[in-house]
Amino acid sequence: MTAQKPSSISVSMPTGRFAPSPTGPLHYGSLLAAVASYLNIRAQNGTWLVRIDDLDPPREMAGAASDILHTLESFGLHWDRDIVYQSRRLRAYDEALKMLQKKELIYPCSCSRKDIVKRGESVYAGHCRNGHNTAQKHYAIRIKVPQQTLSWSDMIQGPQSASLFQDYGDFIVRRADGLHAYHLAVVLDDANQGITESIRGADLLPSTSAQMYLQQVLDIKPPQYAHIPVAVNSFGEKLSKQSGAAPVSMRDPARTLFKMLRDLGQQPPHDLETCSIFDILHWGEKNWDLQKISAGKTL
Ligand code: GLU
Ligand code: ZN
Repeated sequence: MTAQKPSSISVSMPTGRFAPSPTGPLHYGSLLAAVASYLNIRAQNGTWLVRIDDLDPPREMAGAASDILHTLESFGLHWDRDIVYQSRRLRAYDEALKMLQKKELIYPCSCSRKDIVKRGESVYAGHCRNGHNTAQKHYAIRIKVPQQTLSWSDMIQGPQSASLFQDYGDFIVRRADGLHAYHLAVVLDDANQGITESIRGADLLPSTSAQMYLQQVLDIKPPQYAHIPVAVNSFGEKLSKQSGAAPVSMRDPARTLFKMLRDLGQQPPHDLETCSIFDILHWGEKNWDLQKISAGKTL
């Protein structure tokens, strides 16, 4: 008997993730992204992963990672498989940089932000593509972007297109302080973890084109993207540590989850409000409809 030829169609298990940066405790908006990605995966019987994006030590807060994990558990958001820490994946990022170097897609750049502004550029226009000021000890590594329009469809925000060259310019893949850039790490980690869907805040929508370009040149199949509206304060600022957002309250997780289902457009029945977090999550899983989430950028 001859062995059966493997099918050319690879069916991957729905796999989602929540990837917080440990810069502080979770606030309402970041937990909302966790809940949306969790429910969308659980509704498909898929795998939900948590990754700690601890790539930028100067911005991190001691104890934040364990605080975040504790919050997720308190809200009944249990993850599958071990947590991945970006700080332990630096070798993989360096390997990818080597590959990009072989393809002659990256180059050193020692321009400061001031230099770029002085030249009157709204985005970096490729000044160091043909050589940089080698007298500068510290330099970033940038990737050349093509004059190409990228188009894709966001599961919530609908059709998108972006011109990397005009909107972004050659972007940084390794910073002048030696740290790897977020776009590079996130793309490599999502691929490494087999992520099939990336559900996150709409503040990251503009990052998607840069990440899709990296996927293209690194031969990585992109996950499906869905960007949920971000929670804002009364000044219209995104909730974040910088805008002074309060950590999500642990006093009444059930009520908070109920409010989140509402904010995600899921129309939970009133009597669910007084149920346990398990009942609320269970209802969320059974009745989940991603299409009901508002396509706005803010809540
Ligand atoms: N770690 C990133 C952040 O907290 C999010 C990564 C992502 O979801 O792509 O802003
Ligand atoms: Zn430069």
